Formats: sequence, C-alpha cells, structure tokens
Amino acid sequence: MKEIYVDHSATTYVREEVLKEMLPYFSEKFGNASSQYSIGRDAKKALDIARHKVADAINSDFDEIYFTSGGSESDNLIIKGISYANKNKGNHIITSKIEHPAVLNTCKALEKQGFKVTYLPVDEHGFVKLEELRNAINESTILISIMAANNEIGTLQNIEEIGKIAKFKDVYFHTDAVQAIGNVIIDVKKMNIDALSMSAHKFYGPKGIGASYIKKGIKFDSIIDGGHQECSKRAGTENVPAIVGMGKAIEIASSEIEDYNKKLINLRDYTIDKVISEIEGIKINGDIKYRLPGNVNLSIEGVESESLLLMLDMKGICASSGSACTSGTLKPSHVLKAIGLKDNEANGTLRISYGYINTIDDAKIIVDVLKEVINKLRNMK
Ligand SMILES: *Cc1c(COP(=O)(O)O)cnc(C)c1O
Repeated sequence: MKEIYVDHSATTYVREEVLKEMLPYFSEKFGNASSQYSIGRDAKKALDIARHKVADAINSDFDEIYFTSGGSESDNLIIKGISYANKNKGNHIITSKIEHPAVLNTCKALEKQGFKVTYLPVDEHGFVKLEELRNAINESTILISIMAANNEIGTLQNIEEIGKIAKFKDVYFHTDAVQAIGNVIIDVKKMNIDALSMSAHKFYGPKGIGASYIKKGIKFDSIIDGGHQECSKRAGTENVPAIVGMGKAIEIASSEIEDYNKKLINLRDYTIDKVISEIEGIKINGDIKYRLPGNVNLSIEGVESESLLLMLDMKGICASSGSACTSGTLKPSHVLKAIGLKDNEANGTLRISYGYINTIDDAKIIVDVLKEVINKLRNMK
C-alpha cells in the first residue's frame, strides 16, 4: 500500500538538496563558528551565507536574523524578550485567541509576571477584526502578536493592515509566520513587521532549527543566558548543519513559491469541491479565499476525528484532526471553538495539508477513501 502523507502543516520531510548541503557540516566541516582557525572560519562563513538567505526571503537585513531552535523558541524569545526589555514603556500585550500554543502559553506565562494580555476574538472565518484591534490598543500597549497563517484552519490574516495599525499607534508588531514562510510571500518592510518567527521543518528543512527576525533598534532581552553567540542574544554553539539546511530550504522555497502555490491550491480546491459536492454533511472551516494553499479543514457530521484518523491510517493516509498539539486529547481545539464551532462539530474535524510530494492522484484517492470511511463510520452508529 502506498502511503499518502498529507500532514505537511505538522512537519515536512527534509528535501534531498537540503540534506546534501548539510552533510559535510557533520563531518569534515565540523568546526565551531566561534573558533579562530580555518574550519571554524568555514563554519562562520556557512552561518553568514544561511543568514543572508533567510534575510533575503523576508526582505530583512542580514543582522536582523537570530537563529533559534525553532518556532516555539522564536515565539518565546520575541514575546518575552521584547516585553521584558520594554517594561518601562508599558505592560500590555495584544494577541488573538487562535494563536499557536507557543504564543498563547508564552502570554499566559507573562500574565503571571504582571503583564496584561488581551486575547482578541476572531470571526467565523478566523479573521481578527481590525476595528477591535484598534480599540484594544492603549497607552501601555507595547506589543501586538498576531499569526500570519493559522496552523489548523489555514486562515491568512491581513498582516499588512495589522502592520499599518501597529506602526500608526507606535506599538511593536510580531507575527508567528511559521506556517506562512514557504507558502505565502512575506515582506517585513512592506508589511511593517517588527519581529517574526519561523521554523525550518515546516518548509522542508530539518527539525529543531528556526529563526527570529527582530528589526534593528528594537530592544529585547535574551532569554537564554550564556556565551556571546548570535550577538549575545541567543547563547549556545550554533547548530551549523541545521542552519545550513535551513538556509538551503528557504532559498529553494522562495525560488519556487509561485509554482508551489499553484500546485497546492489546485489540490486543495479539487479536494474541497469534491468532498462538498459528493459527501453530505461536510462544512469547510476557515476562509475559502484567504487560506494556506495546501490547507483543507473539514467538519464532518456524525463522525469522530479519532476514529476517522484511525481508518485513514489503515488506508495509508496520514492526516490530522486539527492541530498536532491538540490531537490525542479529547478537548476540542481552541481555534475551532474560537470560530464558533459546537463541540460535536469540533470533534469531527479533519485537517489535510498538502505538500510538495502530493499529486492529483493522491487527492483523488483521498476523496474516494473519505467517501467510503465516512459512510462506514456513520453506519456504525
Ligand atoms: C509548528 C508551529 C510552531 C512551533 O514550531 P516548532 O519549530 O515546532 O517549535 C509555532 N507556530 C506555528 C503557527 C506552527 O505551525
């Protein structure tokens, strides 16, 4: 049986070109980037090249990129780092109810330390209402953190407008762009983004490596104390092979983004059209137009996600019930609740996220299998 992997929002495999570029940095080019001899200098050079590639992909400057261990650490570094360093200006942070746990739980941790956090509601498509954002800003607001693309329902926020509001009100704007990078074009200058999080394993790079973009001039505190790496903002010997891989992965992603988009949108829209027209009792979650190119999120009447996933797994289809972080628990996802789904709708949700390896034949098989297993599950009741 052929396995069909459609869970690219959870993680992606490492592309062959990326792995190839990384390998020498595990062996002959193993130097520490801080060392003063040639293999150390080679490692430092490799870091610089990767840093340029990451910066180019989002139109930032080279020295505004700090490598971290991934999306979660970047969210922590930016939100905590900026909040701590700007405490004298104010203690209010604005975020949304549909953020990734790396943002939500960071904000909750800050609340325990005396910061005030506004969690903005979203509409039924998952959009933050700009008027509510404007109204939430007060004299003590120091940071707005709103994700660029939602990992469950795929909704793309109007980042450019949020950036304008933040700039007009003189408040820093961070976006968790972990799902967006590699899928949609992000330009930090054009969009007035002050800080951004990304993670390589969401765009065909290795796991455990990511980056924070933090605009020059913004004060932020380090959250890992130690050596002077990453301009003393993130201590720890750099993971050179992973950083090299991330650089290569983002370079490929940027150069192929238009074709990649077209391909994924085709798979996504085919799947949505077919399941809506051929299976009864299906609802699409998220916005139809402004959504991640590979994201399909369905609520299926009369079906429990967990049993559906098991049956899909038996057919070789790897999908998700919503978010990797909420699957395995019986609590309905905070994102699905925030867009107004009832518990039974939220519990019958399936997320398919297409990627580079998928074909239209995969989509056809998925639609056929869905028809069959949904029928079976409904008849078992
Ligand atoms: C995956 C993800 C993260 C976490 O990234 P890690 O590199 O796995 O820590 C954060 N935010 C969003 C939106 C994500 O999809």
